[in-house]
Amino acid sequence: MKLDRRGFLKFAVGGVVGTLATPIPWDMLDESAKFTDLWAPEPAKGPSSFVHSTCRLCPGGCGITLRLVEDKSGRDEWRGWHHKEFIDRRKLPAVPLRAVKIAGNPDHPVNRGGICPLGAAGLQLLYGTNRITAPLKRTNPRGEGEAAWEKITWDEALNIVTGKLREIREAGNSHTVACILDNKKGLTAELIDRFFRAYGSPNVITMPSQEDVETVGLSLMQGTGGHLAYDLENSKYVLSFGAALLEGWGAPVHNMMVFGKWQGASEHALVQIEPNCSITASKADKWLAVKPGTEAALALGMANVIVTEGLYDRSCIARCQGFEGFKALLESEYDPRKVSEITGIPANVIANTARAFAVTKPAVAVYGRGQGVMSGNLAEFMSIYSLNALVGSIGAKGGVVVQREVPFSSWPALATDAVAQQGLAQPRIDGEGGEIKHGVCMSHNLTAALKSGAVNALVVHEANPCYALPRANKFEEAAAKVPFVLALTSCMNETARSADIILPVASYLERLEDVTSAARVPYASMSLTRPVLANVPEARHPGDVFLTLARAMGGSVSSSLPWDNFEALLKEKVGGIFASRRGRIGDQEVAMLGSPDELWEGLNAGKCWYEEPIFGGGGLTFSPQGRTPRLEPVSWMKASREFPMLLVAYENINIANRRAVDTLPYLTKNIDNTVLQKQDLLVRVNPETAGRVRLVEGDAATVQCPAGRLSVRVHMDVGMMPGVIGIPLGLGHSNDDPFLTGKGVNAYEILEPELDPVTGLAVWWGTRAKLIKV
Ligand code: SF4
Repeated sequence: MKLDRRGFLKFAVGGVVGTLATPIPWDMLDESAKFTDLWAPEPAKGPSSFVHSTCRLCPGGCGITLRLVEDKSGRDEWRGWHHKEFIDRRKLPAVPLRAVKIAGNPDHPVNRGGICPLGAAGLQLLYGTNRITAPLKRTNPRGEGEAAWEKITWDEALNIVTGKLREIREAGNSHTVACILDNKKGLTAELIDRFFRAYGSPNVITMPSQEDVETVGLSLMQGTGGHLAYDLENSKYVLSFGAALLEGWGAPVHNMMVFGKWQGASEHALVQIEPNCSITASKADKWLAVKPGTEAALALGMANVIVTEGLYDRSCIARCQGFEGFKALLESEYDPRKVSEITGIPANVIANTARAFAVTKPAVAVYGRGQGVMSGNLAEFMSIYSLNALVGSIGAKGGVVVQREVPFSSWPALATDAVAQQGLAQPRIDGEGGEIKHGVCMSHNLTAALKSGAVNALVVHEANPCYALPRANKFEEAAAKVPFVLALTSCMNETARSADIILPVASYLERLEDVTSAARVPYASMSLTRPVLANVPEARHPGDVFLTLARAMGGSVSSSLPWDNFEALLKEKVGGIFASRRGRIGDQEVAMLGSPDELWEGLNAGKCWYEEPIFGGGGLTFSPQGRTPRLEPVSWMKASREFPMLLVAYENINIANRRAVDTLPYLTKNIDNTVLQKQDLLVRVNPETAGRVRLVEGDAATVQCPAGRLSVRVHMDVGMMPGVIGIPLGLGHSNDDPFLTGKGVNAYEILEPELDPVTGLAVWWGTRAKLIKV
């Protein structure tokens, strides 16, 4: 079944709001089941049972319901098909159960029954041909031809890993061990971070994210940490500066659900600002095609109108600092006519949009580019965030809030011996920042650190930097020089292929784990992924792997991680929620529960704990440390004779782009033929741009950038700004998955990061380019 843009929107929005006016949602789920059957020993029929869990294929945190059927095939070699009895794990049902479908859980507050195509296809993650089913040891040197592997036992694998870690630590070099994670959200990530701090390494580094710049910006402007969230559900006017609200940004199904509620309700408006007519832009009330990189100027032009026409919220401004200086800057530099020349948006459109944004209450300005997997520049964040202060939306219902922390019990004090203290005193290998020093990870600096010989061992947990860091190919070359590389992953990917040892980890349908607060959703939440299915042979919970490693290391590393297993740790942490008496689980107040066990049982039955945000008038500092929001153009925005075009990356919801999860077979089938035709990736260009270099629809071409070149085909699209080339992220894998390998090219390879001088963070969503006809 081919799904076009309109079809997808019917699925995404119709499905989640429950109208189901179209059969598309069910057709798609049937398709999912058929693909699942491809890997089944035999299709299973019979009575169904249902189990609730949580999806963790993206930061959306949706509740899911798995349908299980009795498998009477009598074939037992696929242990993974069997339903794991998680009340009493020793008891297996007389007839094994097999999961055949994933749907949204209607009782989960984040998605209320909705599900996205990736979540619906999750079963395929379990049984793909690139699933790793035993620990693997490399038998040929890294960097020399195709990797060759031998299966080893867990004991052998853990002996090798502890031997290496011990050797490095005993030599006083614990700080030369680095670990890469996709992000630090959730108890497994916190446990891993704790392991390395107890070991003596400060180098647990996360992949880049939009949140990196937000963290620095929030700290400067509001003096706080935490995760920004937007109360879209209660907002009447959303000004989105490029956030792919309907294509994977934040909590995608939640956003679609909100958008579905807006349909036909005239009091809601969405204005999408980006150079590309994306799905979000095409469904918005207004699309402003801004010149890439000038969003900060546009935000300040709007701020100028709000301030000079006196439309700002005086009570909020009274809580802010630095308003007079900000106002003076707006008046002197960001008149709408001047901003029009910078951004390409007519002055009257800037002014009218600003007025509508200011007078419609509540309204919110959303900072973001695409799905949010790239960091950006601080000045842009500050400019856009300032708009929220002008309309009184900081901390307000329908505005922007900082998510409350889930009240887990605190970690016990970390025990650090002399070696650990000496290691932790060393500077982090990714640096401390730019002009401003901050603790945010700067993974773009890893390639240089690896090349310099600063890393003796690299541990990668459920991340794929060899594919998804900027200049990914350069990172892979640098990783080949690290003496020892360990990958923990459930499926073979580009980074695992560069490892010495691979440890297979259980997938999210096979392990018990917290999923903490869906991204960008204003309330705090926590629900569990549950071992609905037994592990594929040999796969283990990553938390258990690090607890085992800690015991093997002994001393203060072991005493810092005293739990028998991850489940014991999780249960202890959940006790903090009970003790706080905060929030609800399902429809019950936590304060009304009699014991922590009741809360634990509720979570284990698939219920979600959640807590409403506390709204209240917040303010900010417009010019923290004298840094007033302004346009700070990145160098690739300057005209170049050699590279006359601008290449910008964009994302597609049918292409998994979350680094640790690859696109699944069923989704590969649904990639639009304007994105991928057979093995060829298509870039989107305006017909005028294509005409400049005599290209027509479907022509083969080379995209040449300062960092390298890729072979593509051309798709002409009036929805792309002239002079801009749009390239999709998430394709061009070489990960041994027959459904994905060789399909398209990897845009991450030619995206060269430029550093924000203030934060030192990479600004890497675009680059100069030219198109050459082949
Ligand atoms: S939006 Fe994210 S969390 Fe929700 S079903 Fe899709 S992949 Fe899973």
